[in-house]
Amino acid sequence: MLAVYAHPDDPEVSCAGTLARWSDLGAEVRLVICARGDKGSNDPEIDPVVLTALRAEEAEAAAKVMGLDEHENLGHPDGEVENTLELRAELVSRIRSFRPDVVVSCDPTAVFFGSRYVNHHDHRGVGFAVLDACSPAASSPLYFPDLGPAHRVATVYLSGTLHPDTWVDIGSTLERKVDALRCHRSQVGDDLDLVGEVVRRRAASAGAEASWAATADAYAEAFRVLKLT
Ligand SMILES: [Zn+2]
Repeated sequence: MLAVYAHPDDPEVSCAGTLARWSDLGAEVRLVICARGDKGSNDPEIDPVVLTALRAEEAEAAAKVMGLDEHENLGHPDGEVENTLELRAELVSRIRSFRPDVVVSCDPTAVFFGSRYVNHHDHRGVGFAVLDACSPAASSPLYFPDLGPAHRVATVYLSGTLHPDTWVDIGSTLERKVDALRCHRSQVGDDLDLVGEVVRRRAASAGAEASWAATADAYAEAFRVLKLT
């Protein structure tokens, strides 16, 4: 399993319960983050270099909580994650060397969430780059011929979607999702009880939509799933 997201805390918000569950089930799970998180603060006095280092430490701690086998940051500046040839080459290189069965990223077609949130530019950029890297680039030997043998990704899970069709049961890993997100203290602040409440409430809301949910306390993460052929 290969997850690819824009910012250091994105996977914890989007799919940490799923990644932890797959890891528990014996899957090898890797994570690639594209941007270094250097603009993830409202404090005009903060040093972006210090913030980048702090966020790398937070990501390291969260990766351990989720049980990831490997994680890396490509080091792009926040706000500059574009679906470029360069980024697609970086992603194709990882896909062809790791050869994942499943790739997880964010749905780039989601722009507006209600009337209060415009999906971050970097989320849209990485989502389209991941889709283009999976199909056709990584699976077609004439694309990036110097980046290793072609590999076809069978399945793509897209989080942050307006068109969910698959709900992963995260009942067994919900508290690890909470703990992983709490590692990102620079982003979530010091009210760790609130972090737990929000994560549990959102997971319960997703769980209530799941067709498999037989109880009122089902917890899930929702995805739009593509089966690439
Ligand atoms: Zn983000």
